[in-house]
Amino acid sequence: MKNKKYDVVIGLEIHAEINTNSKVFCGCKNSFGSETNTNCCPICVGMPGSLPVLNKKAVEYTIKAGLCFGSEITNLAVFERKNYFYPDLSKAYQISQLVKPICKNGGIELASGKFIRLNRIHLEEDAGKLIHKTKTIGSLVDYNRGGVPLMEIVTEPDLNNAEETVEFLVNLRQTLVYAGVANCKMEEGGMRCDVNLSVKEKGSSDLGTRTEMKNLNSFKMVRRAIEYESKRQIEELEAGCAIIQQTRKWDDNKGKSFSMRTKGDSNDYRYFPDPDLLTVEIDKHSIEEIKKTIPRLAKDRIKTYVEEFGLPEYDAVILTNEKYISDYFEECVKILNEPKDISNWIMTHLLRILKTQQNYNSESLETDLNKIISPKNLTAIIKLLENKKITRVKANELFEIICFSPNLKAEEVAKEKGMLNQFSDEQLQDAANEVLKQYNTALSDYEKTPEKVVKFYIGKIMALSKGSANPQKAEILLDKKIKEILKK
Ligand SMILES: [Zn+2]
Repeated sequence: MKNKKYDVVIGLEIHAEINTNSKVFCGCKNSFGSETNTNCCPICVGMPGSLPVLNKKAVEYTIKAGLCFGSEITNLAVFERKNYFYPDLSKAYQISQLVKPICKNGGIELASGKFIRLNRIHLEEDAGKLIHKTKTIGSLVDYNRGGVPLMEIVTEPDLNNAEETVEFLVNLRQTLVYAGVANCKMEEGGMRCDVNLSVKEKGSSDLGTRTEMKNLNSFKMVRRAIEYESKRQIEELEAGCAIIQQTRKWDDNKGKSFSMRTKGDSNDYRYFPDPDLLTVEIDKHSIEEIKKTIPRLAKDRIKTYVEEFGLPEYDAVILTNEKYISDYFEECVKILNEPKDISNWIMTHLLRILKTQQNYNSESLETDLNKIISPKNLTAIIKLLENKKITRVKANELFEIICFSPNLKAEEVAKEKGMLNQFSDEQLQDAANEVLKQYNTALSDYEKTPEKVVKFYIGKIMALSKGSANPQKAEILLDKKIKEILKK
């Protein structure tokens, strides 16, 4: 949104569920989609007397995320109680971090070169989930999510519009997924975003009063909410009204935000160190060890694809958009060193199918391209094509046949269905003789442009054989025959 008189100032708080096997302070399973209230124990439902035990992996993954963004890692991390009452939080406090978070500073650079600073990344526990059935029984609570480890990533107010904010979030999500610390499945609430937004007169150093929109769980929602709220605040100011500091709820169906409650500050939560949890010491050696486990991130992969595989940057960016696609691509290249062909097949065939499937079955297909076609089968088709054993039309047909049939083998199907080039050497001889005789006028150009003439005859043979002749063999044969004819 462009407005001459005002600057929009945006800061984000992003909650990403960390993908550990168990919850952050107990041994309960950390998994989405289980039957309600089955992944619970006295600790994560907050029974009196139960004691939390910190999940080491959750700390490591938070450190790992921080290292990816160039953050400083604290040597002493403290867990605190954030006190508030809500039915999805049965202890009436959330274990979080205020004074000594695991990571401080760091940031992400946007394509424009603008650097968006992070303030901190801290580790906390998620709350349960309310299920509203107001028309029948009222509201129910599912505590499966209670105690799931969450990373809260807080930015400085460095963002100025929806465009930048979405670019930042795409980048952040991609890095967390590549690093393997969070799945960030936004449709499952695995990554949620709170947007703090204020407007100020252009050039002014004083920040305006901000509002907070909580739990936006798609990039599209973030974009719409920012555009709406910027406009609303500017209109309020233009009308001579003051902005009220408050939490607002974004209603994506109505395309509007509504006031929920006036917003308190951290003092209202009466933070204090959790007496049940020790201060966590993080030594330099452990940080170095964690650093070693950071895999190649999207930007590293793009570099390899362009510089080593010779792919256009456009291909490299598309292939690395999602980690599972990039992994699949690399798996294929390991089998057959033809990156460009593989990239073409993935972009034109696989991604097309993926797009049509995701609407009704995102879960399995998104994470497993193998279900469409295995790297082995895909590279087998490309190999057949490379070796001219199959025509392009037939290769496409073969692809359609073996899609979603993991038990079929590309070569076997091609053979069984008679899809391989069947033109025998004898037939090739006959065809060569025939086309040379039928189009003999072209021979006179051979001395001047031999390649062009041979190509012309190959085309005729391919047409005659309905595409089943081997063009490489045809070329050798034609060259020989033409030389013989011209000698005479
Ligand atoms: Zn538990």
